[in-house]
Amino acid sequence: MARVVTLGTAAVVPSEAHANTYMAVEGEGGFFLIDCAARPLVRMRRAGLALDRLRGLIITHFHPDHVSGVPIMLNNIWLLGRTDPLPIYGLQDVVERFEAMMDLFRWYDWPGLYDMPCHAVPEEVGALVLEDNDFRITGAPVKHLVPTMGVRVENKRSGKVLAYSSDTEPYDAVVELARDADILIHEAATNTLGHSSAAQAGEIARRAGAGRLVLIHYRPSPHKYGRWVEEATATFGGPVELAQDFGEYEF
Ligand SMILES: [Zn+2]
Ligand SMILES: [Zn+2]
Repeated sequence: MARVVTLGTAAVVPSEAHANTYMAVEGEGGFFLIDCAARPLVRMRRAGLALDRLRGLIITHFHPDHVSGVPIMLNNIWLLGRTDPLPIYGLQDVVERFEAMMDLFRWYDWPGLYDMPCHAVPEEVGALVLEDNDFRITGAPVKHLVPTMGVRVENKRSGKVLAYSSDTEPYDAVVELARDADILIHEAATNTLGHSSAAQAGEIARRAGAGRLVLIHYRPSPHKYGRWVEEATATFGGPVELAQDFGEYEF
């Protein structure tokens, strides 16, 4: 089986119990990070993700709550002796900004730094991000404030599918991305420009025919959690839960 671990679940402003949203998808051959935020090495260790099994980094978009952990993670694994290449996947906009950010940190002067081949993913529904023995991962441009990619992870061994909306308004491409997915992880920041409410996430899950909806990227406000789950359940009609930091889902 493969698993996804939610290493953080908060929208832009985190809390003690909720770091900014990022996750790891792990199969038999290793794992991929999807975005990278707070204290990545500490959180990967706590989640039982062995660093030598890190196969690549997928960046959905270049907002600080999704990339703030990238430079320190890359720096830490270099200091800990990584020599294997670490591929980076994202839209062209992300690749350019990633390279510019690493230039600011003078990565060209880090002696013996492993290679980081950057793969620009085309901005189209179903664009191939990567494929290995465990997964076929595709992307779709979603509707956010900057170029942003949602991802669909097909487990080639189990046939199960996980979809993740990233940050987005309710959008047809997310319905395509999540078509018949076993698990849809959808943002639920709020009904505002570039984002979705829990009820809107439920509506997308219903239209996609998803098996199960996991709400993520929400504002840490415990008194509202129950209401959000109710609202999403009402529009979806299937099982809904609120992602927690270090939550795990098999697929
Ligand atoms: Zn965000
Ligand atoms: Zn964002």
